[in-house]
Amino acid sequence: MWSLFKKKYPIIFPAGSHGVSNEYVDREVLDIMARLRSRGFEAYLVGGSIRDILLGKRVKDFDIVTDAHPRQIKRLFKRCFLIGKRFRLAHVYVSKDRFIEVATFRALVERGELQDTGKKYAENNVFGTIEEDALRRDFTINALYYNSADSSIEDYTGGMEDMKKRLLRSIGDPVKRFREDPVRIIRAGRFCAQLQFSLPRKERRAAEKCAILITEANTSRLLEELYKILRCGASAATFENLRQFGVLKFWLPELAENPHWNDMIKRLSAIDNRRARGQDIPNAILIASLFFDLFADVAGEKAEKMSHQEIVNLIRAKYNNVAIRLRLPRKEWDIVTNIASRAWVFKRFSAQRRMKGEARFVRNAYFPESLKFFEIFAEAEGSLEPQLKYWWQKEREYLHPSASSQANSSPTAVSANTLPQNTIHAGEKPFIAKRRRKRRRPKRTGPHTIDQSPPSGTQ
Ligand code: ATP
Ligand code: MG
Repeated sequence: MWSLFKKKYPIIFPAGSHGVSNEYVDREVLDIMARLRSRGFEAYLVGGSIRDILLGKRVKDFDIVTDAHPRQIKRLFKRCFLIGKRFRLAHVYVSKDRFIEVATFRALVERGELQDTGKKYAENNVFGTIEEDALRRDFTINALYYNSADSSIEDYTGGMEDMKKRLLRSIGDPVKRFREDPVRIIRAGRFCAQLQFSLPRKERRAAEKCAILITEANTSRLLEELYKILRCGASAATFENLRQFGVLKFWLPELAENPHWNDMIKRLSAIDNRRARGQDIPNAILIASLFFDLFADVAGEKAEKMSHQEIVNLIRAKYNNVAIRLRLPRKEWDIVTNIASRAWVFKRFSAQRRMKGEARFVRNAYFPESLKFFEIFAEAEGSLEPQLKYWWQKEREYLHPSASSQANSSPTAVSANTLPQNTIHAGEKPFIAKRRRKRRRPKRTGPHTIDQSPPSGTQ
């Protein structure tokens, strides 16, 4: 089958015959490629960046591929670090905290072929030609190579044609490719939603057939993929796709069986709207939004009268095992349960019904994220405007008093745009550090532990 590709490809698309040119590429990235070329190496941009420029989308990151071997790359750049064991990648730093990934063309080796030899892998085994590198990639639209020297695109798999047809076609036999790496099924669900592409029938059948293999996929990769979905701006559509492809019931069965599916989709749409406005959303808020219906079911009607700590305990008792299965860091899970449980308190109290211990509640370290989650929850519910306004006001009063006095002088209603902006970003350390400082005071919420060790067999 690979020989078929060989006869027809590559097709070279010269400058001007497509939408990519150097003006869309960061200066530092062009410089790295120019330097590689000046030493006689080939250098191309490949993957998401070229796909996204062709589709007129914002580019997240640029990936360079070259025929230079990692040690040769390292010699060319001052601030370059090699990572990975078998297949080493170069990270070329272009500023203190930003690097560009430079990878050597990969060979067409089968999974497992090189494993467990106990020897250092010979470079010739893992590095290959540009053509082999293309055939290893997942989908044709992700295997277009842009040469910044002459602004041409080299296509080894028919990606340009698929771009036009808006098809997400697998490179090679989709059953084989999904079997090789079932995470590709999840990526297919995301790309179709994010790019508004269709999955051809053959790929769809293969996805359904191989869906069960997702249970064997690496858990850390799956968690990474989950966050990617929740941040991609099309999380609602992605989850619809994953359910249709039959992969969700093996990956996140609790969600596939969620009787409040439409409520979940509404919350995901609220997240997508925020992402479209460029907002970052901390991981815990994303996870709380995804799983909230399960938490609500476990808390049940009686939650209306419970304290948030009682709700936290209920959620943990029932769902700690899910957190462990997903490999959610314990701190993250701690935040998830704390912010989700506060939704009942937010809902319960409004201008008509004040709560005792309000100042303490608002000054709690979990409050800002809890309120952000509640905003998403309220947008999905569509009927909690009075509560929202009340708590925004309280936030200003207790946490941003100077902003509060300004706001008080103006009678305009609080809108999402005038919200105090949280400075918390996903995965940022200061978030935890700040919380720790505050929590040196006597703990009110009791220690949290996930008291089961991960079941053996989870990856
Ligand atoms: P995005 O960054 O929006 O997720 P992307 O296509 O850039 O999209 P990355 O995960 O950054 O995705 O991967 C970069 C490239 O590496 C892809 O475009 C694809 O060519 C290749 N790739 C990534 N994951 C796989 C995989 N599981 N199997 C084969 N190739 C892959
Ligand atoms: Mg990418």
